[in-house]
Amino acid sequence: MTDVIIIGSGPAGVSAALYAARAGRSVCVVSQGTGALEKAEKIENYYGFAEPVSGKELAAQGIAGARRLGVEFMTAEVVWLGLDDTLTHYIVETPAEKLAAKSVIMATGATRQSAPIPGLAPLEGHGVSYCAICDAFFYRKKAVAVLGAGAYAVHEAEILARTSASVTLCTDGAEPEVSVPEGIHVETGRVAAITGTDKVSAVRFADGSDLPVAGVFVAYGVAGSADLARKVGLPLAGNAIQVQDDMSTAMPGLFAAGDATGGLLQIAKAVYEGAKAGLSAAIYVQKKK
Ligand SMILES: Cc1cc2nc3c(=O)[nH]c(=O)nc-3n(C[C@H](O)[C@H](O)[C@H](O)COP(=O)(O)OP(=O)(O)OC[C@H]3O[C@@H](n4cnc5c(N)ncnc54)[C@H](O)[C@@H]3O)c2cc1C
Repeated sequence: MTDVIIIGSGPAGVSAALYAARAGRSVCVVSQGTGALEKAEKIENYYGFAEPVSGKELAAQGIAGARRLGVEFMTAEVVWLGLDDTLTHYIVETPAEKLAAKSVIMATGATRQSAPIPGLAPLEGHGVSYCAICDAFFYRKKAVAVLGAGAYAVHEAEILARTSASVTLCTDGAEPEVSVPEGIHVETGRVAAITGTDKVSAVRFADGSDLPVAGVFVAYGVAGSADLARKVGLPLAGNAIQVQDDMSTAMPGLFAAGDATGGLLQIAKAVYEGAKAGLSAAIYVQKKK
């Protein structure tokens, strides 16, 4: 079992990896790609560079340094995170496998935006949900829709299929990015609106047709920080994961750092919090031995 799994290879995740690895822990970083730095063309407010550096270059140098210290990197989307049945360690689930770790650091960046679909925001909490594992119970034996086309959306649909009367994956014009298990319907039409006055009544498509549903689960893109946090029952302040000074969350052995915890969404803060989280995770694992 890995000592510390870090979700995210941005400045927070890589900084955490450096500190945990140098404290003698085995470290695996699982990520979907570079993160916010991918889009940062020119950085000139971070320590140590005489000339502006691109986000991509900074990220590549960071990862190379961590690899040199023995940190393992894996490219995968984390679709679920939680304690195992014995409550002794964490399971980090990707579409392909389940990874076990003594401690986990969430360095998943800022949460993805919801889609600007008319009706979606007003019906949040009234049939629009962002977490299948949290809310599936309310839609037992009812028809539900999942908005999204990726592995995360299919994972949410699978959770709902256990209890709901029917589950339709609404891909909003895209083809599903992964295979969809039998029993889950797929609707590829463009989503025009979510309808309902006090609560959700249907997904309306661009051709004017309605799919009557009691619940709509939003699962666009990859699972963001807030999505994963909700799955383990972590308290959030808005979309930010709430942490203590040592970057610990409400769950023992689970830490968070960087944009995921809100506040100043900048590299310097992500690196600082990553360092603290890496050290805290290393100490936690050491004490567990
Ligand atoms: C256009 C732009 C320009 C910027 N310019 C500057 C600047 O000049 N100076 C500055 O200080 N800051 C700048 N920033 C902000 C800076 O990039 C962020 O504050 C910083 O990258 C946050 O680091 P992080 O590690 O917390 O998150 P991120 O860098 O966003 O990394 C998040 C990581 O989590 C991974 N991830 C997320 N969800 C999952 C999942 N479900 N499964 C697997 N992996 C997952 C992502 O793949 C990624 O590796 C800029 C941001 C943008 C968008």
